[in-house]
Formats: sequence, C-alpha cells, structure tokens
Amino acid sequence: MNDSNTRYGNRNNSGGGRPRRRRKRRLRPWVKIALVVIAALLVILLLKKAFGKSGKESSKESNKPAVTSSPTPMQTVNNKPTEPATPVPTKSAGPKYTICVDPGHGFDDGGTSSAFLGAGVNEKDVTLAMAKLLKTELESRGHTVVLTHDGENKLEEKDIMQKATELGVSFSSSYFTENKVFHAYERTIWANILNKQYNFDVMISLHVNALEEASVSGYQVYFCSTNDYSAKSEVISKKLIDMLKRDFPDKNASVFARNNSNAFFVTKYPTMPSLLLEMGFCTNQSDAKDMMNDEWRAKYVKTIADALEQGLA
Ligand SMILES: [Zn+2]
Repeated sequence: MNDSNTRYGNRNNSGGGRPRRRRKRRLRPWVKIALVVIAALLVILLLKKAFGKSGKESSKESNKPAVTSSPTPMQTVNNKPTEPATPVPTKSAGPKYTICVDPGHGFDDGGTSSAFLGAGVNEKDVTLAMAKLLKTELESRGHTVVLTHDGENKLEEKDIMQKATELGVSFSSSYFTENKVFHAYERTIWANILNKQYNFDVMISLHVNALEEASVSGYQVYFCSTNDYSAKSEVISKKLIDMLKRDFPDKNASVFARNNSNAFFVTKYPTMPSLLLEMGFCTNQSDAKDMMNDEWRAKYVKTIADALEQGLA
C-alpha cells in the first residue's frame, strides 16, 4: 500500500504535458488493482464462509470422541431449538412400547432340527435370526427392544441368581443348572431382571415346532391363563393369530391357553404379559422352506410387529 501511494505521488508531480490522459491511464491500473483486491477479498470471504461451515459440520460427526473440539459443536447442537435431536425413524405414529424378545434355545441347546431346514441348521439359528429381524422391524417403528440373549455371550447362572437376589426378582434355584445351556427358566428370570430396568410391555419367545407327522404345518401361539398377566397375554396372543391368518391365509394358526401345571416357563414365570410363538414346523417341507426364506422372514416379522402394536394398544 505504501509503495503504490509513493509511485502515484511521484508520477503526479513529474507530469505536465498531458495530465488528463496520464491521470486517466494512471487511474485505470489503480482502479483495476483496487477492484482485483476487492474481488479477491470477496472471494476469500465467500470461501471462508463456505469452508468454515462445512468444516464445523464435519467436525461434529467425525470428532465426536475428541475432547478438544467437542465442547463447541456440542453446545451449538444443544442450543439450537430448531434442530431436532437424533431423529427417531417412525413408521407408525402410535404409542411406543418396550418389548422383550426371547430367541428360543441357543448356545449348547440347538432346539429342534430337520432335513428340510438344511444341514447344520438348528432351531436356535432360526429363532435368533428372526429375533434380530423382529428387533430391527420394531425399532424402525420407534419401539424399544431387548433380546434375552445374542447367541454369543452366555450369562453365568450364578450371576443371574445374584442379580435377581439384588433386585428382589423371585426365582427357584432348583431350576438353575450350571452348564452351557441358557435354559428357558433362566432366560425368563433374566427377562424379569431386565424388566426391572425396562418395564416391558410384553415378552415374546420365538420357537420352531416339530412333529413326526410331516403333513402338520402352521403357527401356534401359547400363553399362560393362570398368572397375573393372563388377560393381556391372551389379548396379544389372539391378535397375533388374527394377524397371522390375515397375512398367511393358507396356513393354520391356532392359540393355546395353558394353565399353571402345563404352561411353558417363558409364559408362566415372566413378570409381564408374555407369549410363545411357534413360527412353523421344521418337519413340514413348506414351513421349513418358508423359515429359511428371507422374503418370508421379512414379511413374518412385520406381521408379529403389527400384532404386538395392536395387541398392546
Ligand atoms: Zn423351541
């Protein structure tokens, strides 16, 4: 800046013959320079704005764990009332439920199997896969879902009993066995422990049926008719049968009320409404084919989710 000022002054002083032209000629480059400088400044400003913004945004996502940069973006996010918190994907606008899904069997207990399911495929594989799909489906509708197990990390029986004692969850230690099987009773007591934290609306246990008679096919729902939650369990169970008949009209679907003496553990002992669903007979070729089919699985978990929503409403 100083340099150009000096030059301008010198030239002004040394002129005399054609001051106007000279002035014009001298002014032009000066104006040009000024314009270029202004334009450059504008471009720099615009670039700063653009890059400054995207820089901030990317730091919000990629630097979440970084201690140094977290306070500013976190505050920005928290103080923006127009910006919603983590968007919850909601397919249905109705009430939201908390659901316990129990994948039947697991670990050293494979459950049933058949040639129709395929070599090396056991009931536990089907129930775990379906439980995970059901969880995803329900969560996509905004519900909270907890599985009793993930098929990989087995809880120790003594730890379950200790936790139950701590939280005042009643159980009979005679039903507990130290082994690599997460027994139905143990899973139920674990669900009751989780229930202290989650306050579940319902527990659903998924299974695969089997019979010597290969022609028998279809779906069965069981609930206990003699515990504190029977009324609600019955409503949800019957709704599930309705929905299965609606979506799979070619299959049999029936509901069974079991009493105190013959109800399944997972329907008798939960401290919440509960039901057990036999998703088909692996001894029936058509049912087994369905249960190993991705499209059928996706449709089936939607039906279960519909039934739970309607049964709990
Ligand atoms: Zn089973």
